Amino acid sequence: MDSMDWANLPFGYMKTDYNVRSYFKDGKWSTPEATDSEQITLHMAATCLHYGQEAFEGLKAFRGKDGKIRIFRMRENALRMISSCEGILMEKLPIEIFEESVIKAVKMNERFIPPYESGSSLYIRPLLIGTSAQVGVKPAQEYLFVVFVTPVGPYFKDGFKPTPIVILRSYDRAAPLGTGTIKVGGNYAASLVAGKKAQELGYSAVLYLDAKEKKYLDECGPANFFGIKDNTYITPKSSSILPSITNKSLMQLAEDMGMKVERRQIEEDELATFEEAGECGTAAVITPIERIDDIEENKSYVFTKNGEAGPVCTKLYNKLRAIQYGDEPDKYNWVTVLD
Ligand SMILES: *Cc1c(COP(=O)(O)O)cnc(C)c1O
Repeated sequence: MDSMDWANLPFGYMKTDYNVRSYFKDGKWSTPEATDSEQITLHMAATCLHYGQEAFEGLKAFRGKDGKIRIFRMRENALRMISSCEGILMEKLPIEIFEESVIKAVKMNERFIPPYESGSSLYIRPLLIGTSAQVGVKPAQEYLFVVFVTPVGPYFKDGFKPTPIVILRSYDRAAPLGTGTIKVGGNYAASLVAGKKAQELGYSAVLYLDAKEKKYLDECGPANFFGIKDNTYITPKSSSILPSITNKSLMQLAEDMGMKVERRQIEEDELATFEEAGECGTAAVITPIERIDDIEENKSYVFTKNGEAGPVCTKLYNKLRAIQYGDEPDKYNWVTVLD
């Protein structure tokens, strides 16, 4: 792997040596086993193909300066996958199977974990699907859990740069009492049209408003939203936001840095009072927001001066990355160090 250009990897799929699979059949999960096949053979009536019984996760492994491999907050992802299973009536994947599969997939693809200096990491994608045949609308009897990995580049190749995002009032990502709080593929299918429209208009993402009143901020497609003002980290509370593990981590770090942390409803107009704003998620940790345009209402909220990320976003970003790479102490036991 010496010939790999580790610092310039895209955020995309690259074939690695193995993926790890466990099957639920006859009431039990099989021991996770590795395969070198990239294919899955499925029954054409599998519930994942017709009725959207699919959930996924996303987490990362990092190579430290000491050469050790660190996986960030794996237990949180295992717990969130259980809540996704409950949300769409899939067989609950045991935490032990989740963790064993993730560790195995990382270890068996060790040669794909980027070196510390590159700023790249190994993205881990667990997914769970209903596999048995069903034509009536009912949950499957059988399930397949797969974990594959792929090396990904540093999200900010040209530095930590703020991007513009847009409010598109004619689209919703999730219903107030729907599946917004769980990590299922269906939510993503539902967000593709708005996402494409935003890209065409020159924005990097959509900031959704609450679907019922179009009054409060919800989240940004695949990332949670937060704003900073008066030494306070503020993130929306709603019944349709996916609980981001990055956001949860940033709330803790903000508190440790002496900031106040608020999770509450945020009316759109309050955007005008924020000193900084960002989106957060595993892929980028934080994407600072340059400005938010509410195009239908002809409003625009700007958060940056001369296109630079603000001091709080930068500090939070550096702090979280330092914990992930093992440069700073892991005082909350967020990191699993592999031996
Ligand atoms: C995965 C995801 C996030 C980010 O969650 P992290 O755990 O921080 O990666 C945010 N919003 C949605 C809708 C997601 O699916």
